[in-house]
Amino acid sequence: MNIHEYQAKQLLKSYGAPVSDGRVVLRAEDAKTAAGELDGPLWVVKAQIHAGGRGKGHFKEPEAGEKGGVRLAKSVEEAETLAKQMLGKTLVTHQTGPAGKQVNRIYIEDGSDITRELYLALLVDRVSSRVSIVCSTEGGMDIEEVAASTPEKILSFSIDPATGYQAFHGRRVAFSLGLEGAQVKQMVALLGNLYKAFLEKDMEQLEINPLIVMTDGNLKVLDAKVGFDGNAMYRQPDVANLRDESEEDSKELEASKYDLNYIALDGEIGCMVNGAGLAMATMDIIKLYGAEPANFLDVGGGATKEKVTEAFKIITSDKNVKGILVNIFGGIMRCDIIAEGVIAAVKEVGLQVPLVVRLEGTNVEKGKEIIKNSGLNVIAADNLSDGAEKIVKAVKG
Ligand code: ADP
Ligand code: MG
Repeated sequence: MNIHEYQAKQLLKSYGAPVSDGRVVLRAEDAKTAAGELDGPLWVVKAQIHAGGRGKGHFKEPEAGEKGGVRLAKSVEEAETLAKQMLGKTLVTHQTGPAGKQVNRIYIEDGSDITRELYLALLVDRVSSRVSIVCSTEGGMDIEEVAASTPEKILSFSIDPATGYQAFHGRRVAFSLGLEGAQVKQMVALLGNLYKAFLEKDMEQLEINPLIVMTDGNLKVLDAKVGFDGNAMYRQPDVANLRDESEEDSKELEASKYDLNYIALDGEIGCMVNGAGLAMATMDIIKLYGAEPANFLDVGGGATKEKVTEAFKIITSDKNVKGILVNIFGGIMRCDIIAEGVIAAVKEVGLQVPLVVRLEGTNVEKGKEIIKNSGLNVIAADNLSDGAEKIVKAVKG
């Protein structure tokens, strides 16, 4: 689960991290008052979307201006104008994909005097099973370019969970970033606070880009991107409250209500599978036969008829879907239940595209009987590659 920059900054501030004063604005008419509450003489108007690269992004609508989703204003009136231009418009960045994201919230922040822009992140390193600190002297808007062309400028340090964060970690990071004097102490304290927040709030990723050195020599968190472990949200009610459903894919949102593991993708073959491993294998084999999956969907081990129906509705609501492959291994799940669910779903939502069903496992004969006797135009498949071949053929001819 992701949150907005302004929410991330409020959270990090509560852990003692240095951030600028700012106000979130939902309606353009509130922008002037909000900006007036800040000191000036420089304001920064920042589009709040769940994607990075806003500064270098562009709006789809020409009236929102060409210059991206992070802009400087020299007066409260200018801040208001910029907020008006951005609200309700669609911002496209290298992280949003070509469709972009609608800007529904604006963050107006005090402007900072910057001498250096650094990169600092905490993440879960799955190889070492530890929290890693990643840092670079080359922070700012081109970090992807730095990673691609000069990866040696990105350093990483891992933290042993047995000892936890120690001051020497902070000193090592500070020295590698070329910090001096009081800045080293600030970095030691900042990293300690970030590490604490990371663990206590079940974060998956905490990226500060840039962490700036100001002209007065102090450090400040100027941008913050935080992602949380979705499976931990049951014990993080405060974090769960920060969820902005308008930022999420509507099909994924619907799926989460029915406890379905669904991820929307760009392809043309809708997949309904039980088990994450089988779902991955199904996606692979669809690609092998020359088509692309429209989604990842794991209906889970104990799916009911109702859940299968919902899953089917979500798949068919995707306009890109030109065919559906149901691939179920009945272990805990019985094939006849799946067959009944599929039939019920087809009767309820109709079937505009070819459907291939492959069943295997417990009560497979009963399941196949149910499908055969349903009178519906369902193509039966005997194994995984047969299923993939049949659905790709049905869609592509
Ligand atoms: P994004 O990473 O989505 O492009 P950032 O918040 O990192 O957005 O902003 C992009 C750039 O804008 C920063 O690298 C920094 O140079 C500048 N910037 C952002 N916030 C401020 C601020 N409060 N004061 C001065 N400059 C800022
Ligand atoms: Mg940034």
